[in-house]
Amino acid sequence: MTGVTRAWMNEELEMLRDSARRFFERECVPNEMRWRAQHHAEREIWNKAGAAGLLCAAVPDEFGGGGGNFLHEAVICEEQMYTMSQAFSNNVHSGIVAHYILAYGTQAQKKRWLPKMATGELVAAIAMSEPGTGSDLQRIRTQATLEGEHWRIRGAKTFITNGLHANLIVVAVKTGSEAGAKGISLLVLEAEGAEGFRRGPLLDKLGQKTLDTCELFFDDVKVPASHLLGEEGRGFVQLMQQLPRERMLIAVGAVATMRRALDETLAYVRDRQVFGQPLMALQNTRFKLAECETQARAAQAFVDDCIARLMKGELDATTAAMAKWWTTDTCCRIIDECLQLHGGYGFMNEYPIARLYADMRVTRILGGANEVMKELIARALEKR
Ligand SMILES: Cc1cc2nc3c(=O)[nH]c(=O)nc-3n(C[C@H](O)[C@H](O)[C@H](O)COP(=O)(O)OP(=O)(O)OC[C@H]3O[C@@H](n4cnc5c(N)ncnc54)[C@H](O)[C@@H]3O)c2cc1C
Repeated sequence: MTGVTRAWMNEELEMLRDSARRFFERECVPNEMRWRAQHHAEREIWNKAGAAGLLCAAVPDEFGGGGGNFLHEAVICEEQMYTMSQAFSNNVHSGIVAHYILAYGTQAQKKRWLPKMATGELVAAIAMSEPGTGSDLQRIRTQATLEGEHWRIRGAKTFITNGLHANLIVVAVKTGSEAGAKGISLLVLEAEGAEGFRRGPLLDKLGQKTLDTCELFFDDVKVPASHLLGEEGRGFVQLMQQLPRERMLIAVGAVATMRRALDETLAYVRDRQVFGQPLMALQNTRFKLAECETQARAAQAFVDDCIARLMKGELDATTAAMAKWWTTDTCCRIIDECLQLHGGYGFMNEYPIARLYADMRVTRILGGANEVMKELIARALEKR
């Protein structure tokens, strides 16, 4: 990002950034409007992203991944967000599901799933939210019972990202009768041909219209007992352990989007004439953009500090929660200011700023609503 020294960038990551940017500009940008109209990308985009080395960048080579780390994922995420290529959620696939498998999977599970996730043969989703509960995950009702060599899953999930294309789905289920967090486990469903498994129609969303989001239904779906991820009853703890990393990817994407919104707006206000002069010449425009640029740089510096902590294994959940709520709130505010400077054109979907406005709104809700983030921070403050 212009104007900010990024201590963690190096030549290898710059090369990855270049090739990711070229991939998204070539494979996604020209298709955006068509994908918006149909509410999903073509399935092949996953195989293309796999062939380009953009999937599972932080998965070790021995499991077919890129052998990199969070920095590689962050660079790919920044480019995907900057180019507005959110038609497939690599964050869910590589940034979340691959890490559950890496952290809790057996050697056999890792070998079975990760290499195919890296090529895009498998597309991953994570199914936690249900029609009756989202933030309060402990209250999920989807049940799995062990019958001999199989679990049987019964229930429904909603708002599932990559829901149309996913053929490997980590499902949060109740396996025990214990109330709350204790009875939750994670099961991995290989969805192709799974009897009793059904996808609902693509959901008609306010934004992120290129990304497939579905309800999923489980009507006594059989999953081999060996597809339990980690220990039974530890699902809630597993989900919580991975959250700081997931929230950082949301924050990384938010900052890249601030940059895109500002770049779009600078170009627009230089060009647009009002009252016989460029819009950029008006003091209000100058001050608004000065404020937004300052906020974007502050956000970048904060996120880079969090990334440095994460790389040292020192990023705590409270700081990740701060990064998630503040960058997504700030991003939405910046986009709103930028949209205002576009006048009526900012309301037209033809203009990127209008699409960013709609696309980013959800980042204040998913990955833990921003109010939940503030509650987490407040709890840490209470203990201080
Ligand atoms: C586009 C999209 C993609 C998604 N992708 C996935 C996915 O891939 N997998 C998945 O499992 N889920 C996914 N979700 C679901 C998402 O995680 C939930 O929407 C989110 O957790 C909020 O849950 P909810 O919608 O049930 O809202 P609720 O839990 O009903 O909360 C509603 C509102 O109440 C307030 N609130 C809630 N709890 C508190 C609290 N403790 N303190 C103060 N205020 C509070 C917040 O303002 C919150 O926005 C997705 C959602 C969307 C919209």
